[in-house]
Amino acid sequence: PETITVQELANRMAEKGADLVKALFKMGMAVTVNQTIDQDTAELLVTEFGHNMRRVSDSDIELELDTGDDADEDLKPRPPVVTIMGHVDHGKTSLLDALRGTDVTSGEAGGITQHIGAYQVTLKDKSKITFLDTPGHEAFTEMRARGANVTDIVVLVVAADDGLMPQTIEAINHTKAAGVPMIVAINKCDKPEANPQKIRERLLEHEVIVEEMSGDVQDVEVSALKKTGLDDLMDKIQLQAELLELTANPDRNAEGTVVEAKLDKGRGAVATILVNRGTLRVGDVFVVGAESGKVRALIDDKGRQVREAGPSMPVEVLGLSGVPMAGDPLQVVDGEAKAREIAEYRQGVLNEKRTAQAPASLESMFSALK
Ligand code: GDP
Ligand code: MG
Repeated sequence: PETITVQELANRMAEKGADLVKALFKMGMAVTVNQTIDQDTAELLVTEFGHNMRRVSDSDIELELDTGDDADEDLKPRPPVVTIMGHVDHGKTSLLDALRGTDVTSGEAGGITQHIGAYQVTLKDKSKITFLDTPGHEAFTEMRARGANVTDIVVLVVAADDGLMPQTIEAINHTKAAGVPMIVAINKCDKPEANPQKIRERLLEHEVIVEEMSGDVQDVEVSALKKTGLDDLMDKIQLQAELLELTANPDRNAEGTVVEAKLDKGRGAVATILVNRGTLRVGDVFVVGAESGKVRALIDDKGRQVREAGPSMPVEVLGLSGVPMAGDPLQVVDGEAKAREIAEYRQGVLNEKRTAQAPASLESMFSALK
């Protein structure tokens, strides 16, 4: 049976080692933080502290930090998070820009468009939709591979004058594999040679059956250039979102995902975080991947300083110890010492992985020389 030291388990749970020792003592076990316990005892402790645990393999205990489930009555509706995918030159960037332009609050004083990897549009009825401003399949699959499933809905852009291309089909496959609902935006419908009906027929070959072909995938004809069909697309996104009944508990310590991160001259390490649940506030102490920090400032997609960010809201976070990776989870924890401890532990794991890989490549270098 696999074992783990009390300290290591405490680090993974973001709890104090001493608290675990106390709990173990109550369970009739006298151990120190440096001693090991078996997996069954570890599991017991994890549940005791109200955490959820995921067993990745028999030999590895992977913990999801502070992921106590939310009570149904605490769940509130949240905006959908949308990713736009499609073949190169079919109009992903143009459509993202056009949709961004429909924001009813964008004219408000002080707002300057900031490209922070995601943005939120407020519709006439005050409801919101979040778009990941990083079109492309790589971001989508990479984030998913890292366990970050931030996308609720995929909008597949297909140019009506071109048809299904390799990356269109790739996008369909990724979306299906992720089990994320898709809306087809048939773009460039302003062009005289546009043939939307041909697109719908070709989609059948890939088992994407749009409503007009009596299927259940919504489709909409748009022109990112002439800005037509955008309201219709927003309506369809909202309809899809309603079917998904997207909710989150806003009244808890924030959990989020890194959408992008960089080292900024003058501002230091900056990460765009998409809040998954809870509310992130200025002054919050957090762990993000193998980095930690304290929120010094929050900046929204219009460049305005905000005090807090709730579920599905993208926000730039200042006050990080270093640059995390896209897809890394962010968790608010109590206490800077604890945050640093967890980050250090994760740095250690990363370094171990790196050094574990090094001898293997050296070996292969030697065997190649033989
Ligand atoms: P991306 O590679 O998918 O991001 O595509 P872009 O947004 O960069 O667009 C590729 C080209 O198609 C650009 O020259 C756009 O101006 C043009 N384009 C995008 N949308 C439309 C549209 O609705 N109608 C027309 N006529 N051209 C468009
Ligand atoms: Mg583009």
